Amino acid sequence: MASMAAMASRVYVDYAATTPMIPAAREAWLEATRHVGNPSSLHTSGRHARRLVEESRERIAAALRVRPSAVIFTAGGTESDNLAIKGLYWSRRRVTGANRILLSTVEHHAVLDPVQWLVEDQEAQVGWLAVDALGRVDVDEVERALSEGDVALCTVMWANNEVGTVQPVARLAEICRAAGVPFHTDAVQALGHLPMDLTAVGADAVTISSHKVGGPFGAGALIAKPTTALTPVAHGGGQEREVRSGTLDAPAVSAFAAAVEHAVAEQAERARQLASLRSELVEAITSVVPDAILNGDPGVGEEVRLPGNVHMSFPGCEGDLLLMLLDAAGVDCSTGSACTAGIPEPSHVLLAMGVDPKTARSSLRFSLGESSTSDDVKTISAALPSAVERAKRAGSPVVRTL
Ligand code: PLP
Repeated sequence: MASMAAMASRVYVDYAATTPMIPAAREAWLEATRHVGNPSSLHTSGRHARRLVEESRERIAAALRVRPSAVIFTAGGTESDNLAIKGLYWSRRRVTGANRILLSTVEHHAVLDPVQWLVEDQEAQVGWLAVDALGRVDVDEVERALSEGDVALCTVMWANNEVGTVQPVARLAEICRAAGVPFHTDAVQALGHLPMDLTAVGADAVTISSHKVGGPFGAGALIAKPTTALTPVAHGGGQEREVRSGTLDAPAVSAFAAAVEHAVAEQAERARQLASLRSELVEAITSVVPDAILNGDPGVGEEVRLPGNVHMSFPGCEGDLLLMLLDAAGVDCSTGSACTAGIPEPSHVLLAMGVDPKTARSSLRFSLGESSTSDDVKTISAALPSAVERAKRAGSPVVRTL
């Protein structure tokens, strides 16, 4: 196992996978664990835990500009996405009979897979929303799809976890509202990186996750007004508005609130710093590996892309091998896409953007965060040329055809 000193000297550029816990969140968690009490218990200890949960709800609501009653605590982004997709689908289907789910082709698996399950098991139909070469949906196409009717819900992520492309979520929420269709957005990657006024955006349900913003693992929320009809996924004590059952993890919730507050308060300054560091990194990579290809929106504004995301293809290389070679050089990055049963597949996001499978398999994601520095950029650009050369020598990706 790597020693603490070796870990400390590593360059961590995988903030989109998870983030270090910020001190305020750690302190909040530690403080809360000093006390016993189930937030649902009626005695003094229980009421203390309940107060902590309700104060956390208020803090998250204030940071995101919604009413506290809109915050449903969950165990993370995946659970929130499942609750939104299945909960909205079942409710709408029961009342209106609508069974079509509109979703973009670049959604995270936490959205794609529940939709696929609803199709296989619950008579749902899919209306795929294609993206352009930058990874963005076309609002006119969404409007056309809505006009065909029978739509149970529409879900389009706020910002993509692989290539960082930002979607026009306020406009999508508006056209869904006009069509009377609930709109969900997965904002897991957007929180803390993009300005977020949820009342102004007006989505019916928004997913956020704690460990992506400096909070602990295993906490998250679905932000949905009490008037949004959601059928529960898990049944039990009915703790969260009868929509999400399970004893709340008061320490995690309290730490999550500290992390969200910090993420939102520091967002503008962090975005400015990350955008500048990102440009440095893109420039450094393209100067040492001239044939590297930048993926996603080449623009710099927060309305088009995440400020800390750099996603590049290295033609002739196998992305996973490149990742391991950089790992050996002390750099923690990602291919950005998931393996299926241990077999690396070309990313569905890149394929949806029209990237060919071989190039897709040659890609790496560097996601910057609060502790990233110009020295990290230097380490990455120093390590890349030999890693790319070795990866090229080992041969280009073998693409499995199904
Ligand atoms: N949605 C997006 C866009 C993500 O990037 C992730 C995590 O990578 C998730 C959902 C899942 O969140 P969690 O890890 O909290 O379950």
